[in-house]
Amino acid sequence: MRIGIIGAGQLGRMLALAGYPLALQFRFLDSTADSPGAQVAPIVLGPFDDAASLRKLAGDVDLVTYEFENVPVAALHEVAASRPCFPPVDALRVSQDRLLEKELFGRLGIPTPPFRAVDSLADLRAAVAAIGLPCVLKTRRLGYDGRGQRYLRRHADVDAAWDALGGVPLILEGFVRFDREVSIVGARSTRGETRAYPIVANTHREGILRVTVAPVRDARLQRAAAGHLQRVLDHFDYAGVLTIEFFVEDGRLVANEMAPRVHNSGHWTIEGAATSQFENHLRAILGLPLGDTRAVGHAAMVNFIGTMPDRSQLLALPGVHYHDYGKAPRPGRKLGHCTVVAATAAARDATLRKVLRRVGT
Ligand code: AMP
Repeated sequence: MRIGIIGAGQLGRMLALAGYPLALQFRFLDSTADSPGAQVAPIVLGPFDDAASLRKLAGDVDLVTYEFENVPVAALHEVAASRPCFPPVDALRVSQDRLLEKELFGRLGIPTPPFRAVDSLADLRAAVAAIGLPCVLKTRRLGYDGRGQRYLRRHADVDAAWDALGGVPLILEGFVRFDREVSIVGARSTRGETRAYPIVANTHREGILRVTVAPVRDARLQRAAAGHLQRVLDHFDYAGVLTIEFFVEDGRLVANEMAPRVHNSGHWTIEGAATSQFENHLRAILGLPLGDTRAVGHAAMVNFIGTMPDRSQLLALPGVHYHDYGKAPRPGRKLGHCTVVAATAAARDATLRKVLRRVGT
């Protein structure tokens, strides 16, 4: 069985690495020859929206999946006409547009911050009046890791935010005074079996995930998050891994966004859960029984952003696992991560503090 993965970044590489023990083979589609995936499987070189490249990938594999959210929906429809393609194209379509995503959350009874579509400066003024300050203006599409966002604290910020982002469809959201950010990663198989991982706590800086701590042991939040996840999975008749990111505000979940793919906040599952998110994604799209999603201890994941830390120094710490994606260093770029796994939360936290000092995060 050969699987085509659109995107050969680190997520694609980790998917392939999880698939080899299951006797799977892989082909990637990516526009860059030295992407992380190239280290582990052949790459079809070409843009994601190039029909000929997509046809070439689809013609060479039994099933197609993607690790990258900005695949054009039209291109994916074309692939899906010739090969099974999971997660469903409709989940990708909705996740690409923050407005559609929040509207869907609303229809499924999942709380969100207040939001308004903004297509003009007049819309923005009206939306600020309705939602109140502070608030966050975001591009509806192609925003990730905090890109395409402006915080509005005073009325004087309105024009500058419009000048910075205006001209493309926007969404204004109320600013959530969150206590913490959590996410839930879960899988649904083509047979309809679903499993959710424990919720995890995420720390972002400059919009980029820095640290994930897993699991968060809060039975009430876990139940609520798993219920929200289940409704989204069932809505799309989903297959694969899906992630929802939430703010926790006054003890309740407020949904920020979803990702129809394996997710950075699930990297801890490689060493910290009974079955990794990558293996469960493959099991899910192949209709295989899903693996146990329980945490096997207490884990923390630290992203390496911009520079790689010294490998020997980190590996000298107990329970530390090191992942280097083999990417050229660049400011703000995710180059690798490490995961700490320990038997107790206290031991995990002690090692995490040492890791953070060495990584300089
Ligand atoms: P996003 O690109 O939507 O995931 O946003 C990146 C980060 O910006 C989030 O993880 C939050 O830390 C922050 N953020 C985004 N939207 C809001 C909001 N409505 N209120 C407060 N913080 C936000």
